[in-house]
Amino acid sequence: MISNVINSNDLQKIDPVFGQLSFDNHEQVVFCNDKDTGLKAIIGIHNTVMGPALGGTRMWQYESEWEALNDVLRLSRGMTFKAAITGLNLGGGKAVIIGDSKTKKTPELMKRFGEFVHSLSGKYLTAEDVGMETADMDLIREVTPYVTGISEHIGGAGNPSPVTAYGVFMGMKAAAKFKFGTDVLENKTVFVQGIGHVGESLVEHLVNEGAHVVITDINEDRLNAVSQKYGAVIYRGDTIYDEDMDIYAPCALGATVNDDTIYKLKAKVIAGAANNQLANENKHGKLLKDRNIVYAPDFLINAGGIINVYAELENYGKQEIMRKTENIYNTTLEILESAHNANMTSHQAAFKIAQDRIEARKLETSK
Ligand code: NAD
Repeated sequence: MISNVINSNDLQKIDPVFGQLSFDNHEQVVFCNDKDTGLKAIIGIHNTVMGPALGGTRMWQYESEWEALNDVLRLSRGMTFKAAITGLNLGGGKAVIIGDSKTKKTPELMKRFGEFVHSLSGKYLTAEDVGMETADMDLIREVTPYVTGISEHIGGAGNPSPVTAYGVFMGMKAAAKFKFGTDVLENKTVFVQGIGHVGESLVEHLVNEGAHVVITDINEDRLNAVSQKYGAVIYRGDTIYDEDMDIYAPCALGATVNDDTIYKLKAKVIAGAANNQLANENKHGKLLKDRNIVYAPDFLINAGGIINVYAELENYGKQEIMRKTENIYNTTLEILESAHNANMTSHQAAFKIAQDRIEARKLETSK
């Protein structure tokens, strides 16, 4: 029998959602549970001023529900600013499914999740993130139209990851131009941490450019496969942050630039695909600036994926997708220069532009 009596001591231990450190005036947080499929998911809708909240679904074996909640709060907030800085009429949202995607993902679970997305009537649109494939989006499409990143044969723009990687490559080149005076990455040592969908594609661009590419991942099979395919060097140590490198490209999970790593980092540039690379945006952004490490803001340079899925909503083609994504080079360079001139961190400069756009739209629509 389930007791419905919660004593006051227990209540005090329960951190309210609105009191979470990562809570930033999110509009809506939806907890989804389905006993039959084992689905436990959280959908975070941060802000819909610019349009419906769009953001991928991450399936991950979180250590606790708090960890999952904080992840969805941080990720959905990041999407708001990513869409705004990229000039897309979209708000910010994201979802997490708690569980190991390799063992717990079933078609039934994906469809049940799709039904929860559908229940939000288009306020939130989903797509791929870590632990998800285009095929999963196709399954969700069977129960709701509010999904992007679906296969080309059913009208989608296909897998966004190669486009994300191309945007990261563009942002990295711009950061190199700012730091080294040239955007040619030949002979630069680049550490790519996480060689999944985006990381592998980034490795390909870097190798083609003649960079010295070092790869690291927790998945041994991928390490061997990607190394063999592109001739990248495998790094298996656990002191990556102490290693000499020109560029550090975080392409796994977020918050790798934190109190433990920041003083060790020898990289001169940080440019990667992972969302929320700075554990604390203000503190770690400032420390990077003080240490003369150029940081290409993650939410700016990893926007290729959202540009790709936005095409499904706006009906533009591959050429326009690539043109918009290539423009990440110009935006990154402009932001790094303006941050330098204004003595701000690059994160602050990018964030301010995005925030100003959202405020302007809010004013416009309230008239
Ligand atoms: P993915 O799941 O395909 O790849 C992630 C890779 O990181 C996996 O190979 C995994 O084994 C590895 N990894 C996990 N923890 C690690 C660790 N501690 N050290 C080293 N490697 C580790 O995911 P993806 O789609 O390539 O996305 C990578 C990152 O980019 C994520 O943070 C994602 O949110 C972000 N991102 C992705 C897209 C996209 O289009 N896929 C768009 C924007 C941002």
